[in-house]
Amino acid sequence: MTLIYKRVALIGLGLIAGSMSLAIRRGKLAEEIVGYARSQETRDIAREINLVDRVVESAEEAVKGADLVVLAVPVGAMGGVMEAIAPHLKEGAVVSDVGSVKQSVFDAVMPHMPEHAHFIGSHPMAGTEHSGPRAGFATLFDNRWCLIVPPADAEQAEVDKLAEFWRAIGADIEFMEPERHDLVCAVVSHTPHLIAYTMVGVADDLRRVTEREVIKFSAAGFRDFTRIAASDPTMWRDVFLTNKEATLEILGRFTEELFALQRAIRTGDGDTLFDYFTHTRAIRRGIL
Ligand code: NAD
Repeated sequence: MTLIYKRVALIGLGLIAGSMSLAIRRGKLAEEIVGYARSQETRDIAREINLVDRVVESAEEAVKGADLVVLAVPVGAMGGVMEAIAPHLKEGAVVSDVGSVKQSVFDAVMPHMPEHAHFIGSHPMAGTEHSGPRAGFATLFDNRWCLIVPPADAEQAEVDKLAEFWRAIGADIEFMEPERHDLVCAVVSHTPHLIAYTMVGVADDLRRVTEREVIKFSAAGFRDFTRIAASDPTMWRDVFLTNKEATLEILGRFTEELFALQRAIRTGDGDTLFDYFTHTRAIRRGIL
């Protein structure tokens, strides 16, 4: 099999980069996977658990000779990393990212892109509430969506190659424009995380009243509903700072719906509650 990219560089060695490395190895999709993370501790762990083939001491060193460079750092760090690696990219290199927000990544990265390399965004819609170099696993992307977000002037052949690479990693591919990506993700991912964080905050606020009951009885809805509130705070801070407009839009719609239900509860309007739950249950049951 001809390799799409012989050498892959992963910048950031957390859940997503680690899972990519293990999936690339599983599929024998590269000759060498080079990795770099900013923290010494992360680099040491990555070496200890053999997460990538070679861990190096700088992002610049990692990208030397790489055919594909993947930025797998928090969204707010993408621009700085791109600026640092830009002079060291080889002719024809493809740079992609896995950030949860796209327009702000484009804005941060594109001004630094050299003429001789290509930037194409990607966002694997897969994750867990765990983070760091030990959190990755090879099957994370299997049968999960990966949204590919090319800039308007992207070379189609390079976009096709990146899509083929993600398919080989195990993902299903869809193409999207950055603005639409950010709105869709605000609904299906970003706002739900915010609400989960908030629900844990509410429980914490009530602690003096409920004492240990929240933890003791949390096997029910609370535990399912708030699992994602254990996610990495740096990542989620950056998501909300960079996808501000779309999340505020969705949050506004969410509070409108919530207030309507709040009113129905206060006025004892069972029909409104029943109809709402019947309608939304049908939608939820349609999601596997
Ligand atoms: P993570 O916290 O597990 O890993 C992030 C890694 O980046 C760490 O190794 C950290 O040391 C490193 N890092 C941070 N700043 C850096 C810098 N300036 N230079 C080099 N390394 C740096 O996070 P993750 O879950 O792997 O997320 C990585 C990216 O993937 C984020 O942009 C996130 O939005 C996106 N993403 C996350 C999920 C998810 O569910 N966790 C899903 C899809 C996409």
